[in-house]
Amino acid sequence: MHYISTRGDAPPIGFFDAVLAGLAPDGGLYVPEVWPLLTADEIAGFAGRPYAEVAADILIRFAGDSLSHADALAITREAYAGFTHAAVTPLTQLDAGHWLLELHHGPTLAFKDVAMQMLARLYERALKARRRTLTIVCATSGDTGGAAVEALRGRANLRLVVLFPEGKISEVQRRFMTTATDANVRCVAMKGTFDDCQTIVKSLFQAQGFRESVDLSGVNSINWARIAAQVVYYFTAAVALGAPHRPIAFTVPTGNFGDAFAGYVAWKMGLPIERIVLATNSNDILARAIGEGRYARGPVQATQSPAMDIQIASNFERLYFEAVDRDGLETSRAMRAFSETGAIDIPPKALAAMRELFAAAGVSEADTARAIVTTLNESGALIDPHTAVGVAAARRVGPLHATTPMVVLSTAHAAKFPEAVTAAAGVAPPMPPSAQGLAERPERIDRLPGDIEAVKTYIRDFAEGSR
Ligand SMILES: *Cc1c(COP(=O)(O)O)cnc(C)c1O
Repeated sequence: MHYISTRGDAPPIGFFDAVLAGLAPDGGLYVPEVWPLLTADEIAGFAGRPYAEVAADILIRFAGDSLSHADALAITREAYAGFTHAAVTPLTQLDAGHWLLELHHGPTLAFKDVAMQMLARLYERALKARRRTLTIVCATSGDTGGAAVEALRGRANLRLVVLFPEGKISEVQRRFMTTATDANVRCVAMKGTFDDCQTIVKSLFQAQGFRESVDLSGVNSINWARIAAQVVYYFTAAVALGAPHRPIAFTVPTGNFGDAFAGYVAWKMGLPIERIVLATNSNDILARAIGEGRYARGPVQATQSPAMDIQIASNFERLYFEAVDRDGLETSRAMRAFSETGAIDIPPKALAAMRELFAAAGVSEADTARAIVTTLNESGALIDPHTAVGVAAARRVGPLHATTPMVVLSTAHAAKFPEAVTAAAGVAPPMPPSAQGLAERPERIDRLPGDIEAVKTYIRDFAEGSR
């Protein structure tokens, strides 16, 4: 299996090279040269099997010859052994037509753990074979950072630098990353927004001399392995509810469009997904793109669901590439125009292709809080604000046919956002036993201005100091 860049100007590379590279050298994102296709029988065969086994089956489709099934299974078993629920990503029913897909049973209580735990093991394997030491940079809107720290801390041949927007994430989110004591991890508070942090990370990759000098890699959802890992739970959830004999709809709380794009990939692989509803908070660039056909950045607003306070959805580039029939030149033109002017019009044919699968809704702060209360009253489930954005959007847009099950991705545990949940529901979410003690541990935080040169110097010093 080979990986090609969405901007069409980088040589195809193998699975592990794509994982190690993160971003392609032409500034594009890697996607598989062809979509692996599963038959209905193969999909039906996932029913009733342990999560790690299904994950291994899907992982080898993306890895091709570079990973044996036995090795894939060793990786996925180890990756998901630390989850506190035996089903890894269990479904819970809200009412006759709605389910929650709980993705928050990993060590940092958000869905980012699902992919990051697998990615860490893929890195380890790739690096052992290549005898390299990588510097991983990661921009976080709150949850990726913690998941990356937890998955990568203390590992050989890796150092990790997390950039987060100061004051714009919850305390629990921050503590999951800043309380690690391992020498290979650094957390940096930046002035500005998540988009500013992400732009700096992308610029570091474009800075050719720098990229090589510190052997840079990235664990943001620009990294293909993140997407590959997230494809798995679409399959397990759909099969549990009757796929492939019955179509399933999903609603995905979205910011950087990684999780939702994984749903698109599952669809491309043959899973009968009837519709994916993109749920955004008031940072609704993706809802407007699908609704109006114009992908236009607005100012970032702080909301109760900070992990989605994003106005530049990196993975939209992967969808755009698909929607223009994999025209790398056109994707490159459009993405450059977007970064220069902050807005592009989606060609009508491409928009129609996107709307084949995607619908979208932007959810206000008031509706988010209301969804927390209603879900508690009607189903007894205490949900976090990101999940609440999903529930509100699912109820507003719905599946295409009334009898199609609607699965809302529950992307974080309520205890990760106690302030917002308590304000809305009047009940404080209990911290799961696995995460207790977090509030007492000392934090380690460095601070930098929102300036690429300062970040480069900081990373060079870290890399040299730990060589
Ligand atoms: C990251 C995150 C999202 C958004 O996921 P994307 O893949 O960036 O769209 C939603 N909810 C939570 C809790 C998150 O941490």
